[in-house]
Amino acid sequence: MYTKIQISIDGPAASGKSAVGELLSKKLDYLFLDTGLMYRAATKIISDLNLFLDDLKNIKHSINNSSFELVTVSGQARLLVNSEDITDYLKTTEIDRNVSTISKIPEVREILVSHQRKIASHTNIVMVGRDIGSVVLPDATLKIYLDASVEVRAKRRLNDNKQIFSPNDFDIIKRDLIQRDKTDSSREHSPLMIPNGSVVIDTSDLNINEVIESILMELKN
Ligand code: C5P
Repeated sequence: MYTKIQISIDGPAASGKSAVGELLSKKLDYLFLDTGLMYRAATKIISDLNLFLDDLKNIKHSINNSSFELVTVSGQARLLVNSEDITDYLKTTEIDRNVSTISKIPEVREILVSHQRKIASHTNIVMVGRDIGSVVLPDATLKIYLDASVEVRAKRRLNDNKQIFSPNDFDIIKRDLIQRDKTDSSREHSPLMIPNGSVVIDTSDLNINEVIESILMELKN
């Protein structure tokens, strides 16, 4: 029987998961799913509707009634929500600040995890997030946990978003990353953690190709 290969990549904010996951999926010709985009999209939906955080009934209703679809455009993974490509509107500072609050809500997680498992059931996949190896795909073929010092991660975030940030923003970016990691690691449901059986890679002194090489080596073993 043909067994589907699942590679989970978890790790803190700006640890390089999305860039590594996307390139790895291209090399292997697997589907790529960045689950962070789905939580960002949920945050945008809730914020566009001006819903209060304790309005669980309408939060659940709005996420349940939204369609999430993955497409590849010019080799780039894009997320369509209700058939609209909103990928470019999901990495704003406002969503960065609010997404951890929304992703704490168990009702939101339940709906998104169900979408994620359904997507993974069709094909070989590289899936990145915070709870992939621990909750979404606990039987993944290979579990990776990417880490890097907060200074390196803040520097990467700054360099990748030069149109939004100036070098003076370094301390604010660093503070926001620390805050988001704290919220993600301390929440009750599906907190960020190193999943059992993970290979931990510290990417602080590695470039993206070196990270990919070590993951490919692990996959061969
Ligand atoms: O990976 P990214 O920084 O885009 O994720 C945004 C936020 O979405 C995280 O800080 C976390 O709160 C949430 N998230 C999550 N579970 C995942 C992926 C992301 O809770 N599997």
